Amino acid sequence: LFITVEGGEGAGKTTLIEGVARILHERGLRVITTREPGGIPIAEQIRGVILDKANTAMEARTEALLYAAARRQHLVEKVIPALDEGYIVICDRFVDSSLAYQGHARGLGIDEVWSINRFAVEGAMPDLTLFMDISPEAGLARIHGASDREINRLDLEGLAFHRLVREGYMKLLQREPNRIVSIDADRPANLVLDDAVAIIIARFEG
Ligand code: C5P
Ligand code: MG
Repeated sequence: LFITVEGGEGAGKTTLIEGVARILHERGLRVITTREPGGIPIAEQIRGVILDKANTAMEARTEALLYAAARRQHLVEKVIPALDEGYIVICDRFVDSSLAYQGHARGLGIDEVWSINRFAVEGAMPDLTLFMDISPEAGLARIHGASDREINRLDLEGLAFHRLVREGYMKLLQREPNRIVSIDADRPANLVLDDAVAIIIARFEG
């Protein structure tokens, strides 16, 4: 079972993944957690190049290709071998991040970005994707530890971008309602976790 967790900044993906892994482990299931971009040395190096603030000349298509390259290596070196050994793999971000961020929010086009990712993943897609849905205001407020009102004043550009990211995810949700399940992430972590576990167990048994 290949599960990915998606969402904008401050949605609580990392916290959710830790909780889900713990609970599935307690139920006797074999689970590994990982993240993108990264998860293995080559992909972590590519992550460093992408996220290095000194790389101000990084062009949008270059960035999209680097994400796809990191994804490819992580998939063949870590995800697929673990799935073959029978592990449940839970990955923080996957293809949908590229489609929402680079495809929709950066304006490259979802179909364009999908074309390079189709090459990168060769059909290996998640069985289930949990979309952690939170308003961009609430997500940014969580990151900065500030109120929604302060965010509106301080981070307008960031807010506009994150609105586009959420819009991108909404398009993906419409395209693949069977694979992608939306969870209201603007609630206490334990309630979000309960929902996520219930969704996963239902898939696992079905
Ligand atoms: O939230 P997370 O730590 O997973 O993401 C790291 C950073 O990479 C975030 O700032 C996120 O916006 C960015 N990112 C991106 N495009 C992707 C994946 C992540 O811009 N495809
Ligand atoms: Mg995180």
